[in-house]
Amino acid sequence: MLFLVLLIGVPVGGSADDHLEVMYQKVQQVAFLHREQWQEFILRRVLRIDPATLDFAHMALSQAEMRAFPLPGERWIRSTGHPRLAYRVKRVRIRSPQDLQQAMMGGAGPLTRGQSALMTLYQTLTSEAVTRLRPFAYRRKVQVMLTDLSVIEESPVIDQITHQGRPLRAIISLDFWPMAVGVIQFSSIYFLQVGRAPDGSPQFSLCPPAFIRSNAIHEYAHTLDRMLPTVRTPLKDLIFTGFVFDSILSYLQERGSCYGKDMAHYLNEPTTPLAASLEGWAIFHEMIDSDEVAAHVRHTIERLAFERPGPVTGSFASDYEVVGWDDPRVTGPVALRVEGVQATILYRLAQETTAGWQGVCGAFGLANRNLRLIRDVLRAFVHLFPDQAATAIRIVDEETHGKLTDHELVDLFGDSSALLPLLAARGRTTPGVCSVEEAVSPSTPLVDPRSSVQTSLEGILDLPAE
Ligand SMILES: [Zn+2]
Repeated sequence: MLFLVLLIGVPVGGSADDHLEVMYQKVQQVAFLHREQWQEFILRRVLRIDPATLDFAHMALSQAEMRAFPLPGERWIRSTGHPRLAYRVKRVRIRSPQDLQQAMMGGAGPLTRGQSALMTLYQTLTSEAVTRLRPFAYRRKVQVMLTDLSVIEESPVIDQITHQGRPLRAIISLDFWPMAVGVIQFSSIYFLQVGRAPDGSPQFSLCPPAFIRSNAIHEYAHTLDRMLPTVRTPLKDLIFTGFVFDSILSYLQERGSCYGKDMAHYLNEPTTPLAASLEGWAIFHEMIDSDEVAAHVRHTIERLAFERPGPVTGSFASDYEVVGWDDPRVTGPVALRVEGVQATILYRLAQETTAGWQGVCGAFGLANRNLRLIRDVLRAFVHLFPDQAATAIRIVDEETHGKLTDHELVDLFGDSSALLPLLAARGRTTPGVCSVEEAVSPSTPLVDPRSSVQTSLEGILDLPAE
């Protein structure tokens, strides 16, 4: 499905003034589509078409349209997780909070819980937290789809009906899961929490606004990243776009995704180096926006979560083993494959060096390519801010709990003169102790600028260098 979405390249118009294009999509009806017997007969016997193939084609085309080039108006969208489930939607362009309020409620009445979440998303996307990221954007236009599922999201029916063991709520939620491949997708159902009242009836509440706001910043930050393909990515480049490349590689190697076999990813879970870099960048901006989120990320990575072998159950407790940093599986490179660790490194670089948030974004900009590892960003950072190299190296060493070997640190930062005293202080390489800060000459670039942006396919694949 992803490939169908990506293979359809459509020119995106618009000027710099309408960088953000928001579409609101109200789900008006959720239905199980079925055919009459005579229709099945004509398809099979007369036209010789397998109805399941036709359903799949409809699903792929309707999903591709929604995710790549959504147009205003009414249409049916098929579910990716249920062969007969479909949504009748009506879309309109949104240019102000008043537009959104009008589209959701017709200008009257209170918003539902889910609709409040969509309003918070819209307000965040148009707030300073996001607009200040625009100078780092390379996409001329960022499209957003806000899907309103208030017609069904608080109905107990979707918790009772199941398909292949999964409740309809989970299937619907996944059909509109937040993501930034193509058009950014958000849905109201994702932010709804379902609990139980004392009498057993379902009880709904909304996620805290800070969480909703964080989601908006996270997905927008993804659009700055060249590792995610856009609908305009040329076919010849598509396979070497980080997310696509990583997904293919992970499937070939382990029949899984870059986020593991459960397709989900957690702040403290080792994933692939590319996926950790992709997510780490987005989480970094969440941390910058909110002290609460920053504290949460830092607390979560105090222990790391490894996927257990065996089939996926859908429960975190059954699917993951959470271990301390003293676990032998937690090596330096494994720690760097944790998105929360990468985000914390970027966060501390922004907080504890004179480069600041702007400087970290500048380093990211220098390393922002189709294939990128944290190494590229770190090398770009010490290239741009040589006088901050010692602090950067110390932060990485601390956030990986001293588990990176000398060789691995050299690989991360290049043959930097700031490294030598640090390695010496670790007592494993050069004898003698001197101050890390003193050893750095602010005026001298520590790394060959070209090496800042030279992670090659061999590096990603971890092949031995020639
Ligand atoms: Zn993400």
